[in-house]
Amino acid sequence: MTTLNEQLEKYAELIVRIGVNVQENQEVFITGSVEMATLVRLVAGKAYEAGASNVHVDWIDETLSRLKYEKAADDVFTRFPEWETAKRNAFVANGAAFISIISPNPDLLKGIDSKRIGNYQKASGQGLAEFRRAIQADKVSWTVVAASTKDWALKVFPNSDSEQHAVDQLWEAIFKSVRLNAPDPVKAWEEHNATLHHKSDILNEKHFRTLRYTAPGTELTIDLPEKHIWVAASSTNANNIPFMANMPTEEVFTVPEKTGVNGYVSSTKPLSHGGNIIDGFKITFEKGRIVRAEAEKGQDILQQLVDTDEGSHYLGEVALVPHESPISQSNVLFFNTLFDENASNHLAIGSGYAFNVEGGKHMSPEELASNGVNSSITHVDFMIGSAEMDIDGVQADGTVVPVFRKGNWAI
Ligand code: ZN
Ligand code: ZN
Repeated sequence: MTTLNEQLEKYAELIVRIGVNVQENQEVFITGSVEMATLVRLVAGKAYEAGASNVHVDWIDETLSRLKYEKAADDVFTRFPEWETAKRNAFVANGAAFISIISPNPDLLKGIDSKRIGNYQKASGQGLAEFRRAIQADKVSWTVVAASTKDWALKVFPNSDSEQHAVDQLWEAIFKSVRLNAPDPVKAWEEHNATLHHKSDILNEKHFRTLRYTAPGTELTIDLPEKHIWVAASSTNANNIPFMANMPTEEVFTVPEKTGVNGYVSSTKPLSHGGNIIDGFKITFEKGRIVRAEAEKGQDILQQLVDTDEGSHYLGEVALVPHESPISQSNVLFFNTLFDENASNHLAIGSGYAFNVEGGKHMSPEELASNGVNSSITHVDFMIGSAEMDIDGVQADGTVVPVFRKGNWAI
């Protein structure tokens, strides 16, 4: 039997090799929880083994984060420290690889004034704008991966007989979703990467003008920019080094035409956002703009999200994930977007990725805008897929092609 430590070591290796693909003499910037110090240290060690010149760790302590939201002065949430901005930008300038190890408690900020949460999201969004642009244009290598921690695990497995068992169950679910149990995980990822790229190739060749979604609670049309590109799995940074931005990843995605979204769409999974849960929501669009957003749960948080800035009233991503994806088949609701978005068709409120349009990586913000790409200080995915969802693609000459039938690929 493999012990947890052996599994973590394999996982760390996968994060460093496939995730950000650390190069000789490269700096590495890790964000991770103090609760998962073991994994953070293993990743740092593997990064040095891969040739990293320096590994910097930004520790997250959720207990302290909650304390701050409860006790700190109001104005703390309206500004983002300049030195934090400068630190990130300096690592970007040095071509560092960014590893984000997430393990958020979905209920961390339950009961906190949504104004404080909204203010801080706005302030940090503005403070990290340059950093986000670098990430969204794949200037540097970056990856988002997850670690199992107590509060999150208890939310996902509330009926576990003990805390430790829940943590172990969540680890197992994470390892399964990142193919760590395959005989050769690195090879398994190479194959998976090829499969997803095959789908994006087909979609790029079809070059749809419009996607039409139908499902219970959803009647939506999404136009795609003339220069849109479907992207999946691995990306390449400014130095042409491949990396995997998300692990797991099951999605094939592109950017919608900012003003070309019409109709309504209903969520099919809860959305964990800003330390709160938003659930049972329906969003209505007119010419791309969100004109109504109603949630059965977390209405305040949803409204704060939509009102973040002008761009948060529009979409920035349209992603296709079959209902039969392994994460969806596991039937585990993770209350975490990294996993739940990879179990379901989804859309994102906020900014679009520059690499989702031809030549976009080198375009100015104005050029991106004129190519239909939305810009915002936020980007939040929400899940809309189900076994009842059909999607048609409409080509320039009016030809209609079934893309999804009953939640799964039809092409
Ligand atoms: Zn996505
Ligand atoms: Zn996204």
